[in-house]
Formats: sequence, C-alpha cells, structure tokens
Amino acid sequence: MIELPDTNSCFGCTACASVCRAGAITMCRDAEGFEYPSVDASRCVGCGRCDDICPSAHAPSMKHPADAQRVYAARCRDGRELRLSASGGVFGVLARHVLARDGVVYGVAYSSAMEARHVAAEDASSLSSLHDSKYVQSHLGSTFRDVQRQLQDGREVLFSGTPCQVAGLRRFLRQSYTNLLTCDILCHSVASPRIFSDYVRFVERHTRGRMVNLSLRDKSRGWGSGATRIDYADGTSLYDSYWASIWAVAYPLHLITRPSCHACPFCSGQRVGDISIGDFWGVERALPQSYCADGVSLVLVNTEHGCQLWGDVQADMFVDDSTLDDAMQPVLMRHSSPDVRRDEFWHDYQRGGFDAVVRKYWHYSPLLALRQRLKLLLRIGLRETGKEVERQP
Ligand SMILES: Cc1cc2nc3c(=O)[nH]c(=O)nc-3n(C[C@H](O)[C@H](O)[C@H](O)COP(=O)(O)OP(=O)(O)OC[C@H]3O[C@@H](n4cnc5c(N)ncnc54)[C@H](O)[C@@H]3O)c2cc1C
Ligand code: SF4
Ligand code: SF4
Ligand code: SF4
Repeated sequence: MIELPDTNSCFGCTACASVCRAGAITMCRDAEGFEYPSVDASRCVGCGRCDDICPSAHAPSMKHPADAQRVYAARCRDGRELRLSASGGVFGVLARHVLARDGVVYGVAYSSAMEARHVAAEDASSLSSLHDSKYVQSHLGSTFRDVQRQLQDGREVLFSGTPCQVAGLRRFLRQSYTNLLTCDILCHSVASPRIFSDYVRFVERHTRGRMVNLSLRDKSRGWGSGATRIDYADGTSLYDSYWASIWAVAYPLHLITRPSCHACPFCSGQRVGDISIGDFWGVERALPQSYCADGVSLVLVNTEHGCQLWGDVQADMFVDDSTLDDAMQPVLMRHSSPDVRRDEFWHDYQRGGFDAVVRKYWHYSPLLALRQRLKLLLRIGLRETGKEVERQP
C-alpha cells in the first residue's frame, strides 16, 4: 500500500485526496482535530499519483528563485477596506481586481458554525467574509478540484492560503495556468480546529449568544494594538473581552499547533506563491513615510505573473519599495518550536476535555468568569478600553 508522510510532515493540504481518481483517500480528523489522509487499501490501484504530488517531499523545488523577488510596503487607498483587513488590505485589492474581470477568489471565511473554511467569492459582497486572519487551520474540502474546474473553464482564479496550501494546489494542478494567481500569507502556524470549536462553544455557553466572528486584529484602536472583537448573530459585539483574550493567549503558545508547522519548510524568504503578503512589522522605523496607523502590508512579488498583476493594481494602493532585510521577521527565517508541555497538554485534554485545559494552561478561572458575566449582566463597567460593551449575556 502507498505510504504517505507521517504526522510531523503532512500539512493536511488535501492534494493527495484530490488527485486520487480511485476515491481511495479520505481526509480524516485525528484526536487533535487535524485532517490527515486515510487510504482505503481495497480501493487503491497503486498508481502512485498521491505520492508523486505530495508537496511535503517536494517543498524545496516549489519555492520561486529569490533573485526575481521584489519587496514592497503597501496599503490600500480605500480606508474602509483597510480597516476590515488584518494588515494593509492588499489581499482585498488583488481580489477586487480579479472579480472585476469576472474571476473567482478563494480564501478563508468562518462558516455559520464558526469553522474556518476555504470558500469561493464571486462578488464584492461575499469578499467581505474573507478579510481578517482566522488563527486556526482552514478546511479545504473539494477546493483544489473546484479551482481546477474554474481554470479549465478559462476563468481567472485568485487562490489565497498558507504556503503549504498553495504548494499543495500547485502540485495537484501539475501544470501552470496563466489564469491562476496564487497568494500565500506569511504564516508561522495554524491551530487545531477541534480546540477552536471547543473554544467557540465554551464562549457561547458563557456569553449566551451565537458567535459569528472572532477578530484578534480589530483595528478600532489601530493596527497591531492587540484589540479584539467577538461578533454575535444578533448583531452585537464584545470588544476587548476576557473571552477573546483566551484564544489570543492560547493560539501563539504552540500547544495546539499542527505538528508539521514545527518542521515547516516554507518559513523562509523564498516563497511558493506568485505574491506573498504579511504584516510589515517595524515599518515605522524602516520606512517612516509608509507608516499608517490602520495597517501596512509587507508584499513579496515572486514571479513574472505576480509582477504583472502587481503592476495592474498599483493605482489602488500606496506603495513604497523595500528590501527583505528591512522587513525581516521570524516567519521569514525559521519555523516555530512546540511548547515543551505539548504532550502533557494533549494528555490532559483527552482526560478532562476543554474545561480542564483552559484552566490549567490559559489561566481561566470560574471566579473570573463569574465576575465577567456579572459585569455584563449588571452593565457595570460598560467601558473597556474606552469602547462600549454592546451586548449583555
Ligand atoms: C494563521 C495565520 C498566521 C499568520 N502569521 C503571520 C506572521 O507570522 N507574520 C505576518 O507578517 N503575517 C502573518 N499572517 C498574515 C496576516 O495576518 C494577514 O493575513 C495578511 O497580511 C493579509 O492581510 P491583508 O490585510 O492583505 O488581507 P485581509 O483582507 O485581512 O485577508 C486575509 C487573508 O488571509 C487569508 N486567511 C485568513 N485566515 C486564514 C487561514 N486560517 N488559513 C489560510 N488563509 C487564511 C484569507 O483568505 C485572506 O486571503 C498570518 C495569517 C494567518 C491566517
Ligand atoms: S498531499 Fe498534502 S495531505 Fe496528502 S500526505 Fe502530502 S502533505 Fe499530507
Ligand atoms: S496510489 Fe493511486 S489509487 Fe492508490 S491512493 Fe494513491 S492515488 Fe489513490
Ligand atoms: S507554518 Fe508551514 S506547515 Fe504550518 S500552516 Fe503555515 S505554511 Fe503550513
């Protein structure tokens, strides 16, 4: 039977499952909630396609040569779109350009059950749900096959995702399409969808409302301020709440990160997408004239195709030339390391569930939670960091 990479090297990109014509591969969630391919030996005809296309074994050859790369600090001119975006709103500018040419844009949105999923946007209204960073691994489902169908129908496609997802798509397609533009985001890790789902249910239980969005990049106090927002189905929002802070603390600790992120071959300045986008941290020192309190993107243009599109969208942005040295940050140099308590965490989780780990690792205390609920119930302390709490539990 075919041997696919182990848990530490598999990105869960779905390329193998998408390429298997025998329908022998299904993506299944493991105990940590991450998707891995599972091969049904009775259906496998041993064609070797899945093994051939797996980006895990081919990562170095997927990276574009660094000599053609251009580096920019950029932000979109549309102030409203800039504030909805995590960084400088460059993704939105690229996406609107593709939509204007009757193209289709793939990116990550929250579903009604608050799962991060890759979806297709075909108009400006569906684009809005793709803005902002979702700090959890997205579910790709049949996206790669859908992208292939659109490309074969001659439509322009913008696919955005983590570098491993972009690498997986390119390996799956096995040919270059002039109507495909890939955009990878700078990414240091993705968190467990299972723990995220537990977290959402936990917050909903305590705040008695159905969550429809979580933003750890709320810009009401400016880009990179650490402000957070939870939006509810009834149209109200919680700003800078204790509940959002739990995920803001949990996600970067690397207790719940996908194992392959700790050996990620894509945490480097050499990229896999036509264009790479991230935050231009430190822009106020490197390029003071480019700084904007609402966000600045770091943009790496890696291919000729990326360069062409970049030229087409310049008018919608403020752009300054930069260098990789000016824009350097950890994710362009090395992958993350797991927290030393990772095994202990998962052991505790299997035994006691989310309630056990949220107390032990993320400093949740029922007393603190009760105080938070009373605050909301009695409408005491309606102002947190100057923003009104807009709902009661
Ligand atoms: C998990 C994660 C880790 C990141 N780590 C870094 C980092 O270390 N350094 C850095 O500079 N930037 C990082 N970023 C990228 C940054 O936060 C912005 O997403 C990026 O700069 C795009 O911002 P924007 O303003 O152009 O677009 P926005 O309009 O905010 O668009 C967001 C884009 O991110 C995509 N996206 C959102 N969530 C996910 C997800 N879970 N999986 C795949 N794609 C997703 C959307 O499809 C869209 O293309 C990270 C993003 C994510 C999602
Ligand atoms: S193709 Fe993707 S999902 Fe399949 S084994 Fe390789 S990395 Fe994992
Ligand atoms: S070897 Fe071929 S048939 Fe078997 S799982 Fe891989 S792609 Fe499917
Ligand atoms: S850190 Fe690497 S392996 Fe993890 S999601 Fe990002 S690109 Fe994929």
